[in-house]
Amino acid sequence: MALADYFQRSAVAAAQVLRGYDEDRIRERLGAVSIGLLIGPDAETPEGAVLAEMLVRLVARLYPRISIRGSTSSLSDLALRINPVIEITEGDVDFAIALGGERLGENTIYAGSDGWDALVSSENPCRIGSSSNPFGAAAAACLAAANLFRGVFEVDDDPFDKAVTFSTLDLESRPTTDPLDLHAVDIGPAAVLVGAGAIGNAAAWVLGKLPAPSGELFIVDPEDVELSNLQRYVLCERSSVGETKVELLSDYLRHEAPRLTVTPAPSDWARFVEKYGYLWEAVLVALDSARDRRSVQASLPKWIANAWTQTEDLGVSVHPWGDGACLNCIYIPNEAAPSEDALVARALGLGPEHELRVRELLFSNAPPPTELLDVVAANLDVSRALLTPFESRPIRELYVEGVCGGAIVSLDRGAPNDPGLHVPVAHQSALAGILLVASAIARSVGRSPETSRLTRIDLMKRLSEFVTLSAQKDPRGICICQDPIYSEAFGLKYGE
Ligand SMILES: [Zn+2]
Repeated sequence: MALADYFQRSAVAAAQVLRGYDEDRIRERLGAVSIGLLIGPDAETPEGAVLAEMLVRLVARLYPRISIRGSTSSLSDLALRINPVIEITEGDVDFAIALGGERLGENTIYAGSDGWDALVSSENPCRIGSSSNPFGAAAAACLAAANLFRGVFEVDDDPFDKAVTFSTLDLESRPTTDPLDLHAVDIGPAAVLVGAGAIGNAAAWVLGKLPAPSGELFIVDPEDVELSNLQRYVLCERSSVGETKVELLSDYLRHEAPRLTVTPAPSDWARFVEKYGYLWEAVLVALDSARDRRSVQASLPKWIANAWTQTEDLGVSVHPWGDGACLNCIYIPNEAAPSEDALVARALGLGPEHELRVRELLFSNAPPPTELLDVVAANLDVSRALLTPFESRPIRELYVEGVCGGAIVSLDRGAPNDPGLHVPVAHQSALAGILLVASAIARSVGRSPETSRLTRIDLMKRLSEFVTLSAQKDPRGICICQDPIYSEAFGLKYGE
């Protein structure tokens, strides 16, 4: 069987959302199934191409054996670049995702799209539109991949969506009420994507699929691509490891969207605003931590869209500054969160007596001393040899890659209850990124809601009927958006 060499991280992610599965059972199940992607002749439209490409970008990361039928060889090449050891078969398949075409047997998920609308059905083939709007098709790929995942891992006796239409414009499970055609979109002179991780990868990918987008986009993220990221970074191929994340996204966009001016900023948000200033028309937030999200809101961009994944759901929220919740409102902690040094020390099996040492190491970005690694190995009960690669690397990488990434800590000891250790499945992050950009483009074309709105989707279940609510300010009145000094500063910045 030909699992990708970054499979460990996929197993961590899958085990967190699948009750009763450990790494061996996941490996066994993946080894037992063949997945078919069946591309009918009616899928030869721009929407069909978007749908097929995103499906390959999702499916080839996890499933070791796939069959791609009715397409050009470019999709097989893409699958091989994502997982060079993937087995591309011509044989029978156990589960299939069909784009267009005819009605097939059971365990087939039909995917299609119609402009802004994603269509998924387990009953009948779905139509595939011919517009140049990528959002419905891109979201349909994620919803179909989620159905496949639920089917393969037998999440439910009845795991498949019957016949759903999801509007990426209205963000509800119904056809778009007042659809508008999407032509060349101008994202404005001062848009920022902060976070070039799993959500940022999907966001950039779908931006590149828009019809001739223009405007100015800054992409902010300090990190490089690690092997463990490949499990869910849809823009990444096996050869992307070691590239700077912002460069990877920028290169793609320069190629796919040449009218867009893209500026990569390999830094964190604080250094970015120090260098480029504080006047931002629209900020797309694709960050991991609540603290980082709150610091983006505190710098007072004019408008924010925010996307997240967590163990229970994924989502997107939009925040015009005004009556509804700001981004800070929805991330104010209810109780004191553990400090980073306490979190890292705990995850590495180090008691409170080591916290000060961990804090110093985090601050100086230094590698852990060998005697500390001896303690980590002993307390986590792992082989000391597993820690050798981390002897010359910052302690934060030991935490991120070794514990969160599963390089040293095995699955059954992973801590699904620790939000810091949550690893999403690829289709969750991808849908979050796609809806993030759909929200921003809705604003560019004058179709964004006037007050804050929050959308939650749980892809481990069949799609719910209502997923979007308006978002109210923090009821305690303690948020920066309820503080007259911040409101005045916002007014001065944007002349309101
Ligand atoms: Zn607020």
